[in-house]
Amino acid sequence: MWGAIAESIMKAAFFAGNGTLEIRDVPTPELRDGHVLVRIESAALCGSDLRLYRAKQAHPSIEGHENAGVVVESRSARWQPGQRVLVYALSGCLRCEACRAGNRMYCPDARSVIGGFGEYVAVGESDCLAVPEWMSSETAAIFGDCIGLPHHTLRRLSAQAGQAALIVGLGPVGLSMTMAALGFGLNVIGVEPNAFRRQLALRVGARHALDPGAVDIDDTVRRLTNRRGPDIAIDCAGKPATQIACMRVCRKGGHVGFVAGNTELTLNPNELFLARELWVVGNWYYNISDFSAIAEFARRHLDPALLVTHRFPLSRAQEAFDLFASGDSGKVVLGAD
Ligand SMILES: [Zn+2]
Ligand SMILES: [Zn+2]
Repeated sequence: MWGAIAESIMKAAFFAGNGTLEIRDVPTPELRDGHVLVRIESAALCGSDLRLYRAKQAHPSIEGHENAGVVVESRSARWQPGQRVLVYALSGCLRCEACRAGNRMYCPDARSVIGGFGEYVAVGESDCLAVPEWMSSETAAIFGDCIGLPHHTLRRLSAQAGQAALIVGLGPVGLSMTMAALGFGLNVIGVEPNAFRRQLALRVGARHALDPGAVDIDDTVRRLTNRRGPDIAIDCAGKPATQIACMRVCRKGGHVGFVAGNTELTLNPNELFLARELWVVGNWYYNISDFSAIAEFARRHLDPALLVTHRFPLSRAQEAFDLFASGDSGKVVLGAD
């Protein structure tokens, strides 16, 4: 039934609980009408996967939401076998006002498109984007979190060339935010406790990379911004203390962006942003209709290869996650064996 290309059994990595991954043989997904079967060439690890990696109990489904590969079978008139595709990580109803505007983040039926930690994934025809000729599968895989989201965030924060931006947390999203901010012409001050990641940020082009364990962040950032505070402050760490620091240090009337979450923060709007007239903007993903424009921005301004520090075959997913969880990496990508 599958022809010569896709076998009926494939390998996939599963979170088995307490930091272990298991590679299992599972049936290759079956194709429904309007779907395509994609052979995964690159699947990136995301900070949000670490929750499942660290969970005590096993997780039943194949995760991985940053994926790119090649169509090997198609039951859609829009896609042919052999086409390279990037899988957009959110599917929507495609009928509501938000979906029609490309903002699937606002669709009441938005669902994650997962499955990249297997050899093949079946995805809906409208969840695929054609990968431009110049773009590697690796760049396509990390596009959503590391190019689309930062661009979307900076545009929503009205970033203007010459402004100062504070970026707190220099993991893969913070690093890519730094790179995109430089593409917008901003001067970046990064904050990150991990020395490896601070070095990466400086290599990418951050003007400063501060260690919160060694310096007083509020004071140092004010000193570096003529005591005014940065025009833009973006939290990419998702901790209560880092989110509060962004709101406290940002200049009056400045723009604060959140791209990482937690469930613990309680805040006082009056003290933190009402009286200081901050714009506080939450950002989750990017508008799918903006893909071509953002890809063009990436081609001109970004070097995604600087973000990916480690690559592993799917069969070594355990090593990949152990390294990623240690924090001593940028983006980590799984590929075919
Ligand atoms: Zn992600
Ligand atoms: Zn919708």
